[in-house]
Amino acid sequence: RRLAEGLSKTRDNIVSGIDSIFSGFSSIDEDFYEEIEETLIMGDLGINATTAIIEDLKKKVKENHIKEPSECKRYLIESIRQQMEVTETAYEFENRTSVVLVIGVNGVGKTTSVGKLAGKLKDQGKKVVLAAADTFRAAAGEQLSEWANRAGVEIISGQEGSDPASVVYDAVAAAKARHADVLLCDTAGRLHNKKNLMNELGKINRILEKEYPEAYRETLVVLDGTTGQNALVQAREFAEVTNITGIILTKLDGTAKGGIAIAIHSELGIPVKYIGVGESIEDLQKFNAEEFVNALFL
Ligand code: GDP
Repeated sequence: RRLAEGLSKTRDNIVSGIDSIFSGFSSIDEDFYEEIEETLIMGDLGINATTAIIEDLKKKVKENHIKEPSECKRYLIESIRQQMEVTETAYEFENRTSVVLVIGVNGVGKTTSVGKLAGKLKDQGKKVVLAAADTFRAAAGEQLSEWANRAGVEIISGQEGSDPASVVYDAVAAAKARHADVLLCDTAGRLHNKKNLMNELGKINRILEKEYPEAYRETLVVLDGTTGQNALVQAREFAEVTNITGIILTKLDGTAKGGIAIAIHSELGIPVKYIGVGESIEDLQKFNAEEFVNALFL
């Protein structure tokens, strides 16, 4: 229910368009497919996913001898769902000693997501240590401290402007000393300076390799869902500088561009692991393709 509410704007955007196509056409022809195609592209599903979905839909319509446009809807939903099942989404870091690096440009909801994730993991009974390694933005450290207090987890911070890698170094020591299950690192992501970003992440990764080799490593990129195709561009750029293992897609509650979750899966092959559909802890949810598509269409 919460998911469906959160996605209501995207739902209105995509589904109302599709429903009017299904009721507006009396036969299944090229125009019919073109209208669906346009609606999916306008809904931010991206060219790749849209093309594959339309091809698959045509195949299904043929195989099942469908003649009525209105009968196509369930096959369209099936095609969309299948598009999203490209990657198995694993949450390995929940089951073993782990370090999760969270990166993202300013304002996407990175610090908020790290705070929510800390709260969630703590609720699962995990021992969490936070590293406030976004030393670039002054308020990020304070903001994360508030989340840490609320969640009741320990936080390691550095001075504003200090070396993020040194904060991570200290946080690793703290995580080991306290036998933490998950070390969650809030790190900056300044895409306008890729060389610096690459150096910074490289340094952090070398420290983790050397000081904490037993920890499973995850790198999550936070993207702002309200930016639509721009989020996709950002994800690509981050993928050029580091090995991304998953995506947190935020602010889907405020946007009609939620179809971007589908585009990210099919264009990049990187799983969306969490979505943000509101401001509270429960509003950061594990992404499930089937639930997502059901919330949109059913
Ligand atoms: P950062 O600069 O990337 O660390 O961004 P912040 O964590 O400070 O978040 C920026 C703003 O986005 C804050 O006002 C958050 O409350 C808000 N925000 C983050 N995630 C969500 C979400 O899923 N839904 C909504 N509506 N707002 C969000």
